Amino acid sequence: MPSASHVFHRSSRATPPRAVSGHGAYLVDENGKQYLDGSGGAAVSCLGHSDAEVIAAIQDQVGRLAFAHTGFFTSEPAERLADRLVAHAPDGIDKVYFVSGGSEAVETALKMARQYFIEIGQPSRTRFIARRQSYHGNTLGALSAGGNAWRKAPFAPLMAESHHIAPCYAYRGQEAGESLEDYGLRVANELEAELLRLGPDTVIGFVAEPVVGATMGAVPAVPGYFRRIREICDRYGILLILDEVMCGMGRTGTLFACEQDGISPDIVTIAKGLGAGYQPIGATLCSGAIHDAFAEGSGFFQHGHTYIGHATACAAADVVVGKLTDGGMTARSAEMGERLDRALRDRFGQHPHIGDIRGRGMFRGLEIVEDRETKRPFAPEKGVNKAIKAAAFEAGLICYPMGGTIDGRTGDHVLLAPPFILTDDQVGELVDKLDTAFSKVI
Ligand code: PMP
Repeated sequence: MPSASHVFHRSSRATPPRAVSGHGAYLVDENGKQYLDGSGGAAVSCLGHSDAEVIAAIQDQVGRLAFAHTGFFTSEPAERLADRLVAHAPDGIDKVYFVSGGSEAVETALKMARQYFIEIGQPSRTRFIARRQSYHGNTLGALSAGGNAWRKAPFAPLMAESHHIAPCYAYRGQEAGESLEDYGLRVANELEAELLRLGPDTVIGFVAEPVVGATMGAVPAVPGYFRRIREICDRYGILLILDEVMCGMGRTGTLFACEQDGISPDIVTIAKGLGAGYQPIGATLCSGAIHDAFAEGSGFFQHGHTYIGHATACAAADVVVGKLTDGGMTARSAEMGERLDRALRDRFGQHPHIGDIRGRGMFRGLEIVEDRETKRPFAPEKGVNKAIKAAAFEAGLICYPMGGTIDGRTGDHVLLAPPFILTDDQVGELVDKLDTAFSKVI
């Protein structure tokens, strides 16, 4: 029997149980214990763990052509998937660059954006603006763009230059007497102020998640925020780069989360739900205008990875995206997400330590506070989020709790991102198990 002793696990203090199988919304460990996957891992498993069509597509493709390097070939699955994505993408998006995961997708977006400005003769643009408390991936470029101080701290000497404005986070940011719209405009206008401070022609682009996932717990922007952001990007000629690695691919009830904000980005990254966990795949989608600049300029994007357009990964993702669109799974995310939201509000709406319940589609967050009135968080030393994760796991529920601080003020939260195939009974089971975990900790 193999052991975990040679696996460099992220935590060297605790080895987790070994997962041996998955069916529907459940994972099973080596002892036969069953876990309801309430977070799809980290918003990955949108179709559950045993989708027969995706599995068949992988088996079929791997038997014919597992992989052909894009230095020599294109492949039918990559072409089909790109067509399908572009057909459903926001206006103006026309090209798809395939990679193997979220960080690679963001890294690609940042380099594509930088080289775009070289191609059009604006090489003075070298900086990115993003938001505090953001996470865009763990590779050095993506980590640099993010504004999550804790994740960046050990690597600070290796970080590229980036600048950060406030996130759009009404629960803590909206002031007394301020409308949601006014709040959204106020925080969006921070982008303009920062651009003017830095010098607009030194900035490449603005990077943001339409619905903030891991670092804040399913926080959508308020109405009008992204329209204003889009206007500012256009006014100063910078690119709007949306990171939909977590919130894209139907997770929020539309294929792309930004559809609900009524805007189109210049570049958008996707991953996680794209392969639904069956294959590691991500993508960076860009406008035709960006691609044209490369085509009419150097003709070559100075970037690349071995597994670009991996045929088997693309074949799997093509079936996933087909199920999300024509197969109605995105609509199911919207519908079941509403039911999950109702169930969470019914059970926890009056809970003394749940300050906020939020999100869209099958992407929901609960913010944990010590005091609901003042929104005071629990002290970080209490480790509330870790204790909730452990208690939920014990109860047979996988959820995604995190601690967090925006300028030292944010509380712990629990992120839920279950498979879209969840049934009403499983919504009940999820809420019951979460209740069990909360009862032990808060
Ligand atoms: N961007 C966002 C918004 C993410 O949530 C993540 C992963 N949590 C990433 C990028 C990085 O993706 P990956 O872990 O696949 O590299």
